Amino acid sequence: MKYLLVMGLVLVVFWIWRHNREAERDAAAAARPPAPPQRETAVTEIVACEVCGVHLPKSEALIGNRGIYCSDAHRRQAGGQGL
Ligand SMILES: [Zn+2]
Repeated sequence: MKYLLVMGLVLVVFWIWRHNREAERDAAAAARPPAPPQRETAVTEIVACEVCGVHLPKSEALIGNRGIYCSDAHRRQAGGQGL
């Protein structure tokens, strides 16, 4: 009977300790500022205009049959036709 009482006491102490740890962890998580949004890490290929040499992302560049251009005016100036 005495051991049952000691075991019950140990279980109660363990439960209280565990409950306090969870409460501390929740409080710490609430106090922590939200993580900043992930920055875009995709690599964008940069290309240079054949006429003026300006660098721009390949997604914004105009591709002619003689090279890559920053604008339609430079593509026409270089004599390249659009694809
Ligand atoms: Zn250009």
